Amino acid sequence: MLELKHLKKYYRVGDSTTKALDDVSISFREKEFVAILGPSGSGKTTMLNVIGGLDRYDTGDMIINGKSTKNFKDTDWDAYRNNSIGFIFQNYNLIGHLGIIANVELGMTLSGVSKEERHQKAVDALQKVGLGDHMNKKPNQLSGGQMQRVAIARAIANDPDILLCDEPTGALDTETSVQIMDLIQDLAKEKLVIMVTHNPELAEEYADRLVRFEDGQIKSDSNPHQEHPKG
Ligand code: ADP
Ligand code: ADP
Repeated sequence: MLELKHLKKYYRVGDSTTKALDDVSISFREKEFVAILGPSGSGKTTMLNVIGGLDRYDTGDMIINGKSTKNFKDTDWDAYRNNSIGFIFQNYNLIGHLGIIANVELGMTLSGVSKEERHQKAVDALQKVGLGDHMNKKPNQLSGGQMQRVAIARAIANDPDILLCDEPTGALDTETSVQIMDLIQDLAKEKLVIMVTHNPELAEEYADRLVRFEDGQIKSDSNPHQEHPKG
């Protein structure tokens, strides 16, 4: 459903060029949990941002549901981002002075969903992530794990096909991280989930697939639960 073909993304700053993505080719299935590992500066976040439609690639192609994005206009990228993508981050990115339901509704303001429907979808999503009893609170009344659940509710409320996670447990203790990973693993049964992480133990335990980046290139792509990987 999502395929990157010889994708390149270079950053030019002054006289120097950084090859953030240097000929990346990879296919993702409709429902799988992919962990992206690799040293700092290896291109992980750049790939997530390109897949999420936040950044544009320079050359190559990204195929979405069989369709090339080479000729996508800004409006096409906006529609793709608003309808097909959910994003979660290490620091939750919640708005402190808004209530929890309003935070979740905010994720749908650009999606063309009516106000009533946004409210219903927000409530449904909060119930799905286990926050049914906390819906009338504000973010600062919640624990870190609960705040990440709100962020996950916001990301999935409009039922995107793809959930992109940038260090989702980076600010959480081990016990809470495990609970959040259980939730994300559940979501990967119905979506493509791509997660950048610095935590190889969590990645190996939870993901169906480990992709390692180095210097803007994919160095390996394997199934952690297969004892004798092919090739
Ligand atoms: P990672 O997520 O693996 O740490 P990034 O994708 O953030 O790696 O960065 C890949 C490379 O691209 C790094 O060398 C980084 O410094 C560079 N880079 C990322 N974003 C920019 C930018 N906006 N301008 C210039 N260089 C950037
Ligand atoms: P990460 O924790 O994912 O590695 P970074 O700290 O590398 O993130 O980057 C944080 C932000 O700064 C990103 O949005 C990235 O695009 C930007 N960035 C990274 N490297 C550079 C750079 N050399 N010049 C400008 N922006 C950069």
